Amino acid sequence: MSTITWIGLGHMGAPMSANLVATGHEVRGFDLSEAAMATAREGGVQTFTTMAEALDGAEVVITMVPKGEHSRAVYLGENGVLALAPRDALLIDSSTIDVATAEDLHRAASEAGFAFVDAPVSGGISGAAAGSLTFMIGGEDEPVRRAAEIVEPMAGRVVHTGAAGSGQAAKIVNNMMLFICLEACSEGSVLADRLGLDPKVFWEIASASSGNSWALQTWYPVPGMTDSAAANNNFDATFSAALATKDIGLALAAGEQTGVNLPAAEVVAQRFQQLVTDGLADKDCSLIAKYAAPDGTI
Ligand code: NAD
Repeated sequence: MSTITWIGLGHMGAPMSANLVATGHEVRGFDLSEAAMATAREGGVQTFTTMAEALDGAEVVITMVPKGEHSRAVYLGENGVLALAPRDALLIDSSTIDVATAEDLHRAASEAGFAFVDAPVSGGISGAAAGSLTFMIGGEDEPVRRAAEIVEPMAGRVVHTGAAGSGQAAKIVNNMMLFICLEACSEGSVLADRLGLDPKVFWEIASASSGNSWALQTWYPVPGMTDSAAANNNFDATFSAALATKDIGLALAAGEQTGVNLPAAEVVAQRFQQLVTDGLADKDCSLIAKYAAPDGTI
């Protein structure tokens, strides 16, 4: 069993770290939010008021923060991981960030003598709670092998995607496809309603038919269809509109860099941006369904 420092105990970090505690690891947590740390304590994580204290004795450091700028701050800051963690600690960034930042972190970690992997995840908060996430890990063979062992209690599947940054590349493309499927569910759910279909009957038809998708099974934006949907809880975030805006933006930026046309992703980006503009950045991204309705009611 290892001593693991966990930075970023939000929607994903709290249930993920609880699964490491349940396996018998010692998990030392830190988050800027006291509320997030209180939730993590319920899962058995020991929390500390500074990152420096949380890093004491770390054999592994796992980070699960919102954006590339946060990963940079956590790793490269004056009192950050590269400055304070024990040199033989394995560093695992599971945040979803841009490939260039991930490559910078690989480089900086290596120059400072650390083994580092980018290891974003897919599966949402339901997958985090169930320990069934897909980990996409980019980096050198040996640290990836060590990381795969550590993340196993949180994972349904672990894939070595290739070189530094390739985990993030896979994650960005995967999420773009998810969000396009979510827009399809949003438009489909409202159209089905306006055509007078019973939502449960339609959801069951789509589930057993060619309209099926992970978004339909997990995030369908109609209450009472699927247990894990934010629609059941007034669209309180499981994956916030703010984070979805970030992720679809990463895909659009990657499309620009590579010259790939992404018109469907552009439409979805506009929907997420509309939630942000309407003051709903902290609500769930599946609330984009409201923009399919002519009067905005769903
Ligand atoms: P969240 O906002 O709920 O949690 C992030 C946490 O990081 C917050 O509690 C915040 O206080 C903390 N944080 C930010 N900067 C920090 C710092 N410098 N030091 C310590 N803590 C800091 O976000 P989330 O939904 O848990 O997502 C985290 C990451 O995982 C994001 O990159 C997201 O894109 C990705 N992700 C989310 C989901 C999902 O369904 N929510 C699924 C897969 C991947």
